[in-house]
Amino acid sequence: MSPMPRVLIVEDEPPIAELIAVNLRHNGFEPVWVEDGAAAQRELDARLPDVVLLDWMLPGESGLQLARRWRADARTRGVPILLLTARGDEPDKVAGLDAGADDYITKPFSTQELLARIRAVLRRRAPEQAGERLAAGALELHGATHRVSWQGRELKLGPTEYRLLRYLMGHPERVHSRARLLDKVWGDHVYIEERTVDVHIKRLRESLGEAGRLIETVRGAGYRLTAAVGENENS
Ligand code: CA
Repeated sequence: MSPMPRVLIVEDEPPIAELIAVNLRHNGFEPVWVEDGAAAQRELDARLPDVVLLDWMLPGESGLQLARRWRADARTRGVPILLLTARGDEPDKVAGLDAGADDYITKPFSTQELLARIRAVLRRRAPEQAGERLAAGALELHGATHRVSWQGRELKLGPTEYRLLRYLMGHPERVHSRARLLDKVWGDHVYIEERTVDVHIKRLRESLGEAGRLIETVRGAGYRLTAAVGENENS
C-alpha cells in the first residue's frame, strides 16, 4: 500500500462525494471521485485504487452490479469494496456482501465510522496482498489471486464462500461457532441470523465438491475445517 492509500469514490451525489473526499484528504487518504460505473471502470483500468467506496444507487449500472463484475475480474478481484447504501433492510445488505463487497456503510454515516471501516478493510486485505497461501491437505487458497484449488484443479467460489473458506483455512482444526463465524467473516453485523452461516457453509461445500468433506459440522457447536480428511482421501 502506498503511504497515502488511494480511495476511489463512486457516488453520483456531489455533496456527499465532496464531503467524503474532504474528510479522506484530511485523514491521509488520496480520494478520487467519479460519478458512475463507466467512469469508475475507466479509473480502474488506468490504476487500481487501494479501496473503492461504491454507492449502491447509481445512474446506469448499480453498485451491486459493479461489485459483482469487479469481483469476477481477476485484475480487480483483490480491491476491497465498501458499499455505501441508504437502504436499511437486511436482505439488501446480505445481497451486497454476496455480490462481493467487503463491507457496507449505511447513509448517513459519520466520518469516524467511514474512516474506521476503510481502515478495517485495508487491514483485512493486507495479508492477501502480501501473497498469503493457505493449504489444508490438497486444498489450496492463494490470497493474492483469490484462487482456490483442490488437487491442483481450480474451484469456483462465490465471494462470501471464499471469505468463509479463507477464515476456516486460516484457523483449521478448531471448532468455530456460528456467532464467531458471523463476527469474523461477515463483520460486526449482528442482525444477520445465524442460519445465514449454514446457508453459506452448504454453498461452500457444494462449490468444493469432494473437498467439501474437509468442513465438518460439529453438532451443537459449529463448524471445523480439518485437513486430516483430505490427507486420508489421498492415501
Ligand atoms: Ca446514489
